[in-house]
Amino acid sequence: MSDLQKNIEKLDGYLARFKETGILNQINGSACASLSGETFETRSPVDESLICSVARGGVADIDAAAKAAKAAFPAWRDMAAGERRKILHRIADKIVERAEEIALCECWDTGQALRFMSKAALRGAENFRFFADKAPAARDGQSLPSPTLMNVTTRVPIGPVGVITPWNTPFMLSTWKIAPALAAGCTVVHKPAEFSPLTARILMEIAEEAGLPKGVWNLVNGLGEEAGKALTEHPDIKAIAFVGESRTGSMIMKQGADTLKRVHFELGGKNPVVVFDDADLDRALDAVIFMIYSLNGERCTSSSRLLVQESIADAFEARLIERVDAIRVGHPLDPQTEVGPLIHKTHFDKVTGFFEIAQKNGATVAAGGSRVGGTGYFVRPTLFTHANNAMDIAQQEIFGPVLTSIRFKDEDDALSLANDVQYGLTGYVWTNDLTRALRFTDALEAGMIWVNSENVRHLPTPFGGVKASGIGRDGGDWSFEFYMEQKNVAFATGHHKIPRLGA
Ligand code: NAD
Repeated sequence: MSDLQKNIEKLDGYLARFKETGILNQINGSACASLSGETFETRSPVDESLICSVARGGVADIDAAAKAAKAAFPAWRDMAAGERRKILHRIADKIVERAEEIALCECWDTGQALRFMSKAALRGAENFRFFADKAPAARDGQSLPSPTLMNVTTRVPIGPVGVITPWNTPFMLSTWKIAPALAAGCTVVHKPAEFSPLTARILMEIAEEAGLPKGVWNLVNGLGEEAGKALTEHPDIKAIAFVGESRTGSMIMKQGADTLKRVHFELGGKNPVVVFDDADLDRALDAVIFMIYSLNGERCTSSSRLLVQESIADAFEARLIERVDAIRVGHPLDPQTEVGPLIHKTHFDKVTGFFEIAQKNGATVAAGGSRVGGTGYFVRPTLFTHANNAMDIAQQEIFGPVLTSIRFKDEDDALSLANDVQYGLTGYVWTNDLTRALRFTDALEAGMIWVNSENVRHLPTPFGGVKASGIGRDGGDWSFEFYMEQKNVAFATGHHKIPRLGA
């Protein structure tokens, strides 16, 4: 039996229970259908087959979940941080135990290739361990004495929070947002993406099996404009941590205005990878390919614009085409597969629509530019050349395995092209000139920049974007800044003069 067949067989075993019950919400420790009884379907992008039905939560379900999170908040907030730490570590242990189930379900639900997803569960576990270990110090503050007062700062968790996640790598992203919220002492209502609900349910079950008290983490499935909107408008929810498209972020900001929601946004990108002629071109080529064609290109930090210096462009693009043509597209559960199907028909239509747009724009489709097979949402890894930065393919986030190559003359030209987009999430710079790297990164408009490297995440560092790519930072202590309130308490140290009125 091939590895693919073995994986399909295992997956069938894991899916059997979902097929029977559908995916339920979890409110105050109980698995439940939506209050209206309505459901929607989740289908696999591999063959468009039905995976199972999913509870379609709405205003009433969100209300019940927010009330449960509010009721659970005081006890969770006041639990000794060391106890919270232990529970979060137990969640990590259980994620590792169920890593195979998580990986196979994630691949089937999203189309992401197993070679990348096999590590997603482990990364999710690491997120829990990292924030678990930070929990005991989360409240620590400063002492800021003045001549008359001893000022002492402390941080307290903000309250119940809403977490809204997208469908690309949904498991990892859910852990990335929820682990710091719980470590800070907040309770959570999670609304996962409607296209990929499987692993959010598994994660929730793991958390309660690990001893998380009822109501601390509630799960409401549903559509963005129904359950998602209701969550952002609920008065008991103090903050919204959102990962998704920039235009959804702007809707959430409006929806949250009446209840003065604190928001944290991780949004879209059109990230440049800039290759200068003095770079290590072999390593640059590997990184350029990895950062757009891994994870099906459905990755916010993907380098979807290649800016390559004119003097090396012909040779670099020729090597690139050869490699892109050789990328293995296939079943996501086949360990050999490098690119799987796109998440959903809507997204497939959007991505393939850019094949025509590129030609209308006047660019060349140098590799790919077509679908693969008649069923499922498979596309050939695609490269557009002879493009310029004004084209739609250079300005809009395509969010698929599609790279646009643009040539530049010199450093100034590269910088103005790199910055000439509405987004500013990541940037990648390839050069062996140290002073240029310093100059260039200083002027590049991006929240995260890697020099002579692909995206390698280090959890203590700040993660987030500038411009239309986001508001706020995650990672290290930055996550706690979002999920907690600063408080200053001033104690008089003597009998300083108090102004006397009406005396
Ligand atoms: P999306 O914005 O369509 O949906 C994200 C989530 O928001 C889903 O759960 C959806 O149901 C919900 N939603 C939709 N409308 C809503 C509304 N009016 N109110 C409340 N919630 C609503 O994004 P997507 O298509 O699922 O994900 C892809 C996008 O996510 C890309 O733009 C990508 O760049 C971005 N992303 C960013 C990061 C980052 O860290 N910056 C990471 C991953 C993905």
